[in-house]
Amino acid sequence: MPPTEPGATAAGGWAPRLWNPVGPTESSCCCSAPPAVQAVLRPAADRAPVELLFCCHHFRASRAALAARDAVFFDVQGASIRPDAEVPVAPAPEPLYP
Ligand SMILES: [Zn+2]
Repeated sequence: MPPTEPGATAAGGWAPRLWNPVGPTESSCCCSAPPAVQAVLRPAADRAPVELLFCCHHFRASRAALAARDAVFFDVQGASIRPDAEVPVAPAPEPLYP
């Protein structure tokens, strides 16, 4: 059996869960819209990774800057989002405030 690349779709067609799912009471870090994407910043030497929850709107606005800092992205279920994947992964209303 060939090794599975992290974030690759499993043979059964479902994406593997690689990060914790977002809890029902968690809110976005950016605004009042529900979270749609988890961005995880890779930790420095002895630090823990930093997890940020973004709505679709603010994830689109921040994606390039986060990717430039080597962040990895997961949907609200914890499945990996490929760098070239389309967003929204999950529908979210536009934020009330920019
Ligand atoms: Zn937002």
